[in-house]
Amino acid sequence: MTLDPPMALLAELTHRCPLQCPYCSNPIDLERANKEMTTEDWLRAIREAAALGCMQVHFSGGEPTVRPDLERLVAGATEAGLYTNLITSGVLLDATRLAALVEAGLEHVQLSFQDSTTEIGDRVGGYAGGHEKKIATAALVRAANLPLTANFVVHRQNFHHLSDMIDMALALGAQRVEIANVQYYGWALRNRAALMPTRAQLTQMTQDIAEARERLKGVITIDFVVPDYYARRPKSCMGGWGRRFLNISPSGNVLPCHAAESITTLSFDNVRQRSLADIWRNSEAFEAFRGTDWMAEPCRSCDRREIDWGGCRCQAFAITGDAKQTDPACDLSPYHDSLVSAAVGEAAAEPAAFVYRRYRNAKPVQREF
Ligand code: SF4
Ligand code: SF4
Repeated sequence: MTLDPPMALLAELTHRCPLQCPYCSNPIDLERANKEMTTEDWLRAIREAAALGCMQVHFSGGEPTVRPDLERLVAGATEAGLYTNLITSGVLLDATRLAALVEAGLEHVQLSFQDSTTEIGDRVGGYAGGHEKKIATAALVRAANLPLTANFVVHRQNFHHLSDMIDMALALGAQRVEIANVQYYGWALRNRAALMPTRAQLTQMTQDIAEARERLKGVITIDFVVPDYYARRPKSCMGGWGRRFLNISPSGNVLPCHAAESITTLSFDNVRQRSLADIWRNSEAFEAFRGTDWMAEPCRSCDRREIDWGGCRCQAFAITGDAKQTDPACDLSPYHDSLVSAAVGEAAAEPAAFVYRRYRNAKPVQREF
């Protein structure tokens, strides 16, 4: 298989975050501040990513603005010729900090919201006053003439606000709104019984999206990510393992996707010890599920194997304990029926209480399906 350079680097600068979303895509085993890479480590990694052929860097976390060196990292990426995007909860940004980031070359902001209302937004984020702060930050971003994308994560506790979320994004001046259903691994898998929508709720969401797209054609771009438990075939996770994207964790581990460390049978090389180009091309973790040679049946002989690449490795590992299994979201997987019936059962019951994403809740749990 010919290997193209990665398109983008997701730089997870830290796992620290003032919010505590129960669906956070960070691993359960959150990295501590004293394990984070230094400014020089990050600058070198960014330059290596550009030399490898990356076009974009997405500064993420946790909350990337907790790092006081964010401006220096943005400036380093700009100098290296990379397009820079900041993925933020927005609760720590003010006009001075934003101006410094613009000065450093920041080109785009993705601002995450937990809902269109203060009540649900602050409850889901576990952060009082967060929703109003985000709205103020959106105004600062637009005043700084930066393009804005508004991100919303949807689930059974806020699906009924989907149209309001789109209208809110429009009112805030966003050019794009991304409405993504929760993807169930890590913290979200732990909170699945609190978040999983019913099939009827998903149908309602799909109708609301179709109506909004018709109503707002040419006005705002609306992306919608469906929950794959209700699909017949899985999504093409990351466009295939190790094919398009690189992720660097706060401590410098280089990952094919942001959740890859949940696959505890793999070990990951660190950019402080090995060059990014060598890791991308040759590391064991990237080679593990690249292409199709690793696949077992039913993927091995399936005509979609180079379309969805067998689905999500992290989900396969989380549900079956074997990352080489077909993603159970696929209805050809032997695990599919039990997975869907467990999820449907949870969606029909009263929602469980949130287990918030906090360091003290970061104990591994075994789930049964
Ligand atoms: S999902 Fe929530 S808790 Fe996780 S990094 Fe984003 S804002 Fe913070
Ligand atoms: S069997 Fe594998 S390749 Fe085929 S649709 Fe399912 S996940 Fe995709």
